Amino acid sequence: MKRYVTARARKCSRNDTYARVSGCKKCGHRLYYLAVEDTGQAGDTIIFLGTGGARVMVANQLLASGGMWLSLSGTELLLDPGPGCIVQSTKRKLKANKLSGIILSHRHLDHVGDVNVMVEAMASAGFKRHGWLFAPSDALNTEPVIFSYLRDYLEGIQVLEEGKTYTIGNVSFTTPLRHIHPVETYGMVFKTLRHTFSYIVDTRYFDRLLQSYGGELLIINVVFLEEGRPFDHLSVPDARHIIAELKPKVAILTHFGTTMWRARPWEIAQKLTEETGVKVVAARDGMRFDLSQLDNS
Ligand SMILES: [Zn+2]
Repeated sequence: MKRYVTARARKCSRNDTYARVSGCKKCGHRLYYLAVEDTGQAGDTIIFLGTGGARVMVANQLLASGGMWLSLSGTELLLDPGPGCIVQSTKRKLKANKLSGIILSHRHLDHVGDVNVMVEAMASAGFKRHGWLFAPSDALNTEPVIFSYLRDYLEGIQVLEEGKTYTIGNVSFTTPLRHIHPVETYGMVFKTLRHTFSYIVDTRYFDRLLQSYGGELLIINVVFLEEGRPFDHLSVPDARHIIAELKPKVAILTHFGTTMWRARPWEIAQKLTEETGVKVVAARDGMRFDLSQLDNS
């Protein structure tokens, strides 16, 4: 994708030929424009605003919580804005009013804690009706996670359902199946202009996960180090099995509970890389992952 910048905005080389010349509307001065490749906007990047998951970690903020900021083919989306999202995103100079939408995988606090403030920020503090909210019906109906007055700030709300596909800007995503988790929960398969990747959010392990997710990149919420805990979350052995079966080019682990954090997620990722033959990365708070690095691997 090409965009145009004034020559002054970029250092000119002598060989530059100007793509456009036009007169400044204010003073008539000549403005020279260069055509540049807009890799930042047209590419696909994911910023991990936080990598902590579940109650104890979120309460202590040993790792930040806040979800993921997706910049996909020029469309910006926010996924699971947990507590701290407004702080983590503004700290990184991410502009909420550039978001086209906010997606909630499920209504648990560590995924929706900052949804209200982020909806307001997306709508330029409420001055401009802007952006979409995607959420399962139980996040919107019985005890809504979003204040009723904020609904008017949105362009609309779309209810997530099993097996449906949603389009926003240059991106589409599918919610292939309902997860096994105490509330209505969906992971996603995202399709951008260049890439396909999956986000396996909170769930107990079950075999249908393997038939539902795929793509070059797999992001997995791994709360527990060991299996057998009485909660509906994935553990390291579950993640090992999923990665070995789905064989993405890269797998990123995130949403760490306390047992994972103590066991050093980056060391676990290294071990999983050796065991599965897939490059496994442990997300870090603030990590920016550029999907273009998948293209030549
Ligand atoms: Zn949950």
